Amino acid sequence: MSEPFVVVGGDAAGLSAASKCKREDPDREVIVYEKSDWISYAHCGMPYYVKGEVDSIGDLLSLSPSEVRERGVDLHRNHEVVDIDPDRQVVRVEADGESAEQSYGDLLIATGARAVSAPIDGTDLDDVFTMHHMHSAAALRALLTPPEEADDSIFDAGYVDLSEMTEYFERDPPETVAIVGGGYVGVEMAEAFLAWDLDTYLYQRPSRPAPPFGEAVGDELVEYLDESGVELHLDTEVETLDGDGSIERVVAEDGTVEVDLALVGIGIRPNTGLVADTGVELGDSGAITVDEYGRTAVEDIYAAGDCAEDRHAVTGEDEWVPLGLTANRAGRAIGQTVAGGLEPVGDIAGTAVLKAFDLECGRTGIVDHDRAEAAGFDPVSETITAGSRSGYYPGNAETTVTLTADRGSGKLLGGTIAGEDRAAIRIDTLASALHKETTVGELERFDLAYAPPFSPVWDPILVAAKVLNGSLTG
Ligand code: FAD
Repeated sequence: MSEPFVVVGGDAAGLSAASKCKREDPDREVIVYEKSDWISYAHCGMPYYVKGEVDSIGDLLSLSPSEVRERGVDLHRNHEVVDIDPDRQVVRVEADGESAEQSYGDLLIATGARAVSAPIDGTDLDDVFTMHHMHSAAALRALLTPPEEADDSIFDAGYVDLSEMTEYFERDPPETVAIVGGGYVGVEMAEAFLAWDLDTYLYQRPSRPAPPFGEAVGDELVEYLDESGVELHLDTEVETLDGDGSIERVVAEDGTVEVDLALVGIGIRPNTGLVADTGVELGDSGAITVDEYGRTAVEDIYAAGDCAEDRHAVTGEDEWVPLGLTANRAGRAIGQTVAGGLEPVGDIAGTAVLKAFDLECGRTGIVDHDRAEAAGFDPVSETITAGSRSGYYPGNAETTVTLTADRGSGKLLGGTIAGEDRAAIRIDTLASALHKETTVGELERFDLAYAPPFSPVWDPILVAAKVLNGSLTG
């Protein structure tokens, strides 16, 4: 009997690997260690839970501990793996003040990422939150709910300390919030706070929100956030969060604003401390370097999800793009590989979608010219606006598409999209094209669907491809 497959981290990457391995090789012992109470939860749903669009935090949980165990996985919550000895192939695990060793045949590091709040002072004040843990989502929802609407059912099936939540419930809800950082989480949370009628100030150091979505989408986001009532402080650095015990004001280079709540979303870092001194290598991003099967530089140790890099479909280089599908897909592939039969984790294209009020945004591949040039391309971009449906059909909405291609080869490098009518999901057409190394000329001839309720004869993607191809060949 081989030594167990040990998995560190009980969420997207870790549980996908554990479940897949057990399904493919039922005789293999599979052990999962998760340092918190929470397993199999959807970070991605937290803004919508805080907003109140999702009723209970339990709705964000996919598998319960008993369902994981029914799959034959030996799950240990509140168990932190604190050390790895690759020579002896053992991990050291701490729980309830006790320490024990566990041997492994294969080991998966699926420890995710953590929110960073430095270098801003005052992030340790009360009522300053980051949005990288279910506990924060529960606390924020309780704090935002008026005392007369307090209802414990919003914590159903969650691992929440109800006495702590009661304290939040009993307080007067905040009226003003500063969001520090206008990445996609900051944008999603602005919508959540406005739904609770908070005066919402969003501070962003760059000149547009969500920089990976490019300039055209960024400009639309500025317009939408502004029209929706978010007070934008763009090109503005926050210096300090200030208060006596709890947050009272945000001090930024453009002045001071009194607030009674703050959300800091200025970035995340991969959780890789566990692999220090093991021989597992890190890439430039600080995330773990893996090969196409998720194998690290150390034999029998794998890494997947937000703690690992992956190969980019456009550049062929290792990049860190921490997203949900990437974690689930890599975990599943590693589970298969460990069970027997090499399964590639798949390339990434950085495909992402974002909703800001009624605006849907999407991005894939490389849209930033500096980055494209650094990867050896000669980038050319075009931005077009076209209808989402036939002009006469109700619901038709303007859709803005930007495509970027390499001048020499005509190869599509990336694209972005924004619009109110099913714009985001159209990005998948571009993502599919990127994975097949399509040229803009080939994209222009894609056979996309047309019927008035769904698309004009010339889908906005085809219009953009036609215009960009004209620039490349004209
Ligand atoms: P995690 O989900 O972070 O899980 C890692 C687990 O490892 C944690 O439970 C942690 O407690 C545990 N752990 C860490 N160290 C140890 C240790 N030493 N011992 C034991 N256990 C340990 N992605 C999208 O694609 N689309 C979205 O819309 C989207 N929205 C998001 C919104 C928010 C607010 C956030 C925070 C993230 C969002 N993401 C989104 C990203 C997505 O949630 C992550 O990519 C995904 O959760 C990564 O899964 P993971 O398993 O790698 O890491």
